[in-house]
Amino acid sequence: MIDDAIRVLAGDCTVIAEDDDRQEYRGRVTTIVKPDNTILVHDTDGYQPVAWLTRADSVSSDRTGGFTLVAKKGTQTLRIATHDQDGFAHYPSSAAGTPIGACPDCGGALVRSSGVHCVGCGDRYGVPADATIRDEQCDCDCGLPKMRVERGLAFNVCLDRGCESLDAAVTEAFDREWACPEPDCDGNLRILRRGGLIAGCEHYPDCDTGFAVPAGVVDGDCGCGLPTFETASGTRCLDATCDRGLEEALEAESAADD
Ligand SMILES: [Zn+2]
Ligand SMILES: [Zn+2]
Ligand SMILES: [Zn+2]
Ligand SMILES: [Zn+2]
Repeated sequence: MIDDAIRVLAGDCTVIAEDDDRQEYRGRVTTIVKPDNTILVHDTDGYQPVAWLTRADSVSSDRTGGFTLVAKKGTQTLRIATHDQDGFAHYPSSAAGTPIGACPDCGGALVRSSGVHCVGCGDRYGVPADATIRDEQCDCDCGLPKMRVERGLAFNVCLDRGCESLDAAVTEAFDREWACPEPDCDGNLRILRRGGLIAGCEHYPDCDTGFAVPAGVVDGDCGCGLPTFETASGTRCLDATCDRGLEEALEAESAADD
């Protein structure tokens, strides 16, 4: 369920913003309190609020002797007292994102912001920032679209990791595919999730070699023995600190110039 609410208070209000100095305003304004305690007081002019406090530490309301909202953050205080209240309401709210289809559970809109969520029922799916959402649907009956994620290869997997696991697909493709580059180590690199996906030596903790699997596809071999990846920002070694791949790319370039 969507449990986030935006609170709206409208009316003739006195607004007092205090920090080192003190500002007082009076007007028929609309105050918006976001779920993260960001407070915006809007009047009729422009897009900029008359007063605001982003991510306040606390927001409290008091109804004795007219409605008062008090928000505090560090040394800042924002006080809104109503003289004549036009309205006060809570509205269910979600993050807004690019629409990508319909929710198979409730028919609501699926949107992508950070991850994908349903505006109707609030269902959420974790999606890597570099993933693209496909028009194509999942092969099973879940009704969700697929996402395309590059981790060594381009994988097309269901949005729902419980339905089709990106980790399992990457593991199947690359687990033990690459040898540990440490000179004294005969281990292979395993695909593991440590926050993100990494290729880490099987002899951990004796060998702590490990690399985050880049967002890109394998397009060759680096001089160090590891694979190179074609990424959005160019070709690089699996080891982000390795410059051997760059050296060889430059050599190839100068050879082509001859
Ligand atoms: Zn839904
Ligand atoms: Zn699925
Ligand atoms: Zn190793
Ligand atoms: Zn390298």
